[in-house]
Amino acid sequence: MQIQTSFIENTRVGLTAKGKLYLVPTPIGNLDDMTFRAINTLKEVALILAEDTRHTIKLLNHFNIETKMRSFHEHSRAHEVTEWVELLESGQDLALVSDAGMPLINDPGHPLVQACLEEAIDIVALPGANAALTALIASGLSSEHFTYYGFFPRSMKEQKEVLALVGSRQETAIFYESPFRIKKAVVAIEKELGADTSVVVARELTKRYEEYIRGTAAELAAYLAQQPLKGEIVLMLEGGQLPPQSNLAEKAAQLELPYKAQVELAMAEDGLSSKDAIKQVAKQLGIKKQDVYQAYHDL
Ligand code: SAM
Repeated sequence: MQIQTSFIENTRVGLTAKGKLYLVPTPIGNLDDMTFRAINTLKEVALILAEDTRHTIKLLNHFNIETKMRSFHEHSRAHEVTEWVELLESGQDLALVSDAGMPLINDPGHPLVQACLEEAIDIVALPGANAALTALIASGLSSEHFTYYGFFPRSMKEQKEVLALVGSRQETAIFYESPFRIKKAVVAIEKELGADTSVVVARELTKRYEEYIRGTAAELAAYLAQQPLKGEIVLMLEGGQLPPQSNLAEKAAQLELPYKAQVELAMAEDGLSSKDAIKQVAKQLGIKKQDVYQAYHDL
């Protein structure tokens, strides 16, 4: 891999042949969360690329930003990306915004960033509003280690897979979810990870009806059965209810080590009890726990 460094000259002094791509976060509900720098950047660039121009025009009007705008969305084709890269190469600065929050966080922009990096165009990311991190820090769940998974999957199979992963990690999991599916999501958490799993639903952040609902999966499932939710939602839960998924144990299975050796490896490498290691090996191999148990105990 070739190392690429980019020292960004954050001043406007000096002549740089190429323009810069600014990634500009916008408020997730409360317009006061727009930063001075975000406003100034949007005023100064040659063109704003917006996920939905009809949406962003309201923001521009509010802050008296008169910069021209063009649309850049998820389905923007390769030739459109090329067009923006050519504009940047000609020396024009561009800003990318999404409808709300950080561009590229479950929002369009990644192909454009990649294309800019390939052409050595500087990318300047501005800090600002983001629903996942805002929700996390007030959730009361551990913010030391966490994973952001994007939207909670819709299919039951994918829900099971992602919750098995969450359960195997000692960290907080963050999902985006729609108010129409939140009840089912919490029921799935209760089923896969247990009734006592700590869950927090953060709703309508930075807006008038901002709300955090904290409790166990069972408590939240009961609450949501009575109380349908509206608005935008971040769903968070604690992980670590299941034994860790071990890469080493997986490798051992691939190497077709005897069951007993695989259990010993899982115990040594993952610090599992023999009972949990037997369970994990059986799960990984898709066989009965009893078979692994008998092999481990030389029965
Ligand atoms: N780029 C955005 C960000 O940085 O947070 C996320 C965009 S994603 C398409 C939209 C989802 O983010 C919503 O469906 C909701 O789950 C979450 N979200 C956005 N604004 C929110 C808010 N004010 N309160 C709670 N969740 C929000």
